[in-house]
Amino acid sequence: MKFTEEHKRNIKKAKEKIKGKTYEQIYGKKKSMEIREKLSISQMGRISPNKGKPAWSRGLTKETDLRIRKISEKLKGTIIPDSVKEKLSKIHKGKHYSSRTEFKKGHKTWITGVGHSDETKKKISLIHKGKKISQETRRKMSLSRRGKVNLKEKNGSWKGGIAFEPYTPEFNQRFKNVVRKRDNQLCMSCGIHREKLKRALDIHHINYDKKMSVPENCISLCRSCHSLTQFHREYWQKLFQDKLKRLYSYEYESDGCIIVKIGGGR
Ligand SMILES: [Zn+2]
Repeated sequence: MKFTEEHKRNIKKAKEKIKGKTYEQIYGKKKSMEIREKLSISQMGRISPNKGKPAWSRGLTKETDLRIRKISEKLKGTIIPDSVKEKLSKIHKGKHYSSRTEFKKGHKTWITGVGHSDETKKKISLIHKGKKISQETRRKMSLSRRGKVNLKEKNGSWKGGIAFEPYTPEFNQRFKNVVRKRDNQLCMSCGIHREKLKRALDIHHINYDKKMSVPENCISLCRSCHSLTQFHREYWQKLFQDKLKRLYSYEYESDGCIIVKIGGGR
């Protein structure tokens, strides 16, 4: 894209207008809070692609590298005002930056989002083989895998996970088990039994709407059949709806909409 000279001038003017100003000065208090919140949300869980890799400048000096020399020259003669120094000192006060010694509970490790190699996974699996994991730990692991590491564990009103398992038909373990039981612990596509699998059956949303967690819209599938449903969605939706219609007398409209009978019929 090319800008006209006038456009460029305008951009420059606009930039100068906001130079050195805070969001608050530019947008006002209310709007600036909104922006900050949005930025904070958008940054959440973001992992830098360079995480875990050494900095590009590691081991380089201004004598050996042109880029470093340039930066060094640019910084030469820059005077940092006392007010900034004070701020920086406050920010860094009491902080230690050695990742070796400073690992704290809740920190994300460099491996987060990167993943172990298959070889490493095998090794880890060997280490853990034969170890017994308590029910409590299992529950915590399951929650944390679902992205639900919760702070409620710490306070007294925590009721053993019940907050995640309300009685309403939502997509929780209890609901999933109801569907698995309904389907006799079989993959409803290939017919494999849960006992032959290493893991519980997946629960698939037939119309792909994950908010529609009602039995009429959910079906048990083994992992490999489940992965097939990513493609040819219309085909699978029709197939599964026909199947449930036959087996459990559920009703669907011709366009695939679910007819849910409230209070009976299930
Ligand atoms: Zn299957």
